[in-house]
Amino acid sequence: MYKTHTCGELRASHVGETITLAGWVHNFRNHGGVTFIDLRDRFGIVQIVGNPEVNEELLPLKEARSEWVIQVTGKVRPRIEGAENPDLDTGAIEVAVKTVKVLNKSKMLPILINKDEEVDEHLRLKYRYLDLRRNSMRRNLELRHNTVKFIRNYLDAQDFLDIETPILFKTTPEGARDYLVPSRVHPGHFYALPQSPQQLKQMLMVAGVEKYFQVARCFRDEDQRGDRQPEFTQLDIEMSFVERDDVMALAEKMFTEMVAKVVPEKKVLQTPWPRITYTEAMERFGKDNPDIRFGLELVNITDLAEGCGFGVFEGTLKAGGEIRGINAKGLGDYSRKKIDALTDFVKTNGGAKGLAYIALTSDGQMRSSFAKFLTDDVKDTILSKMEASDGDLLLFVADQAEVMFESLGKLRVHLGDLLNLRDSNTLGFCWVIDFPFVFWNEDEKRWDPSHHLFTSPHPEDLTILGKETGKVRGQQYDIVLNNYEIGGGSIRIHDGELQEQVFELIGLDPEVAQERFGHMLEAFTYGAPPHGGIAIGMDRLVMLLADAPNIREVIAFPKNQNARDVMGDAPSLAEEKQLDELHIKVK
Ligand code: ASP
Repeated sequence: MYKTHTCGELRASHVGETITLAGWVHNFRNHGGVTFIDLRDRFGIVQIVGNPEVNEELLPLKEARSEWVIQVTGKVRPRIEGAENPDLDTGAIEVAVKTVKVLNKSKMLPILINKDEEVDEHLRLKYRYLDLRRNSMRRNLELRHNTVKFIRNYLDAQDFLDIETPILFKTTPEGARDYLVPSRVHPGHFYALPQSPQQLKQMLMVAGVEKYFQVARCFRDEDQRGDRQPEFTQLDIEMSFVERDDVMALAEKMFTEMVAKVVPEKKVLQTPWPRITYTEAMERFGKDNPDIRFGLELVNITDLAEGCGFGVFEGTLKAGGEIRGINAKGLGDYSRKKIDALTDFVKTNGGAKGLAYIALTSDGQMRSSFAKFLTDDVKDTILSKMEASDGDLLLFVADQAEVMFESLGKLRVHLGDLLNLRDSNTLGFCWVIDFPFVFWNEDEKRWDPSHHLFTSPHPEDLTILGKETGKVRGQQYDIVLNNYEIGGGSIRIHDGELQEQVFELIGLDPEVAQERFGHMLEAFTYGAPPHGGIAIGMDRLVMLLADAPNIREVIAFPKNQNARDVMGDAPSLAEEKQLDELHIKVK
């Protein structure tokens, strides 16, 4: 046995016991001939002590350097009075070393492990196996494990079956580019890595499984952003004989209980989770993935623009745009420079051309970029609509709805940060429902599904499908948490004819539809049950539970923001022979 105990478990109750430990040298120091080492393993840190000047056999203690792997046998004893370390679980005791063995040495480290300080991310990813030794990263791995474990147990108790679906499959579009895998056996043919197990889990419903889940890897070849990875993990769920509320109830109950169990220090803002329609989310928060933990909601003042005297507002109204504002409570004393910085923020983050403002200082003054153009009446109505009082900063964007929402939606979150309103210990779960079934794609001149191809339109709206298509609601629901969409799902189409009608609506050529999804259309002719499901992005969820700044922090071996694995150096060039076998020539 390499160890009788872990470094983290020793307490005063072990005093007097002779034990063996193995682990890494976390810190070392020599004091008047005595060597003190903080020995670390996955379970904690304990101080070990020896005096090589008295006992020559302990010399390796003195020679050991950071991250050497050593094994020691010794006796647990209380620390001398005043030397206890209350920050350490094992801080009441230390181990007096009797024998020591060096199991392995370590070179000088490229990154520090014994301090949680900012390290260049490229180095952290290149030496991920060292980075993962750090306390904060170990905690993230544990949190992820506990989250997944809770979910598996929960779903198992509800009779769900955990079923693996293939990675080598056919294109399963979720709106991104596919990763393709060339087939050696079938020259010129390719598998597509699944963007999600969507089709396969629906096939499992046709197969009579009724309750399925999988912690599934998904692949999407998208441009990288802070919260995206080429491959990521979804908790994928599908159920038969369910309506929207059944799926939502399951997810809501599971995640609310999960928070209490896995991150008891955090609290869910509100139960039942608020349900917000897509339209309401846009109107109130400017985005369909709102942070509902704080106010600063958007106020529509478009109806005040006509003849208000301010050309920008009047022009926006004429051009079919909208004017909305946010009352940034408490920022009324902001300097001109700080307001300019907010203007730059909306320009770069939302595309607005500018930010009109009224600043009401705490001593009752008004400064404004445009109030001088307004009649007193309009000015007063704006102030009362915005519920303005001294000390408030009113910020307005006048533009086409899309740009205005994008700008104010992001500005609101930014203001939430500036005003410290985004408490990371509060989890503001909410549902966003009643999305439009399809969005008009002006460039391609066709309807695009707002969720994916297999989502069912709202049954009440079926009669207007194809006539007033833009008004049709989809049976889709998103889970939103603190400004992130962490998951979404829908009630599916389970009728082949309706599925074909939807393919046609979104401009999918019937032949192409048959070639890509013929198996599904056929399956639906053999007694497919009504079904629906949901998928939750595990990386994003755990990132939020861990208060991590991005999803790479909660993935053991992530790609960098350029979609590269810098540790293994992938992707890399293939050998000529491999390419030949795959019938591939690189252009
Ligand atoms: N497959 C969907 C997605 O990946 C989720 C679902 O509809 O269940 O977003």
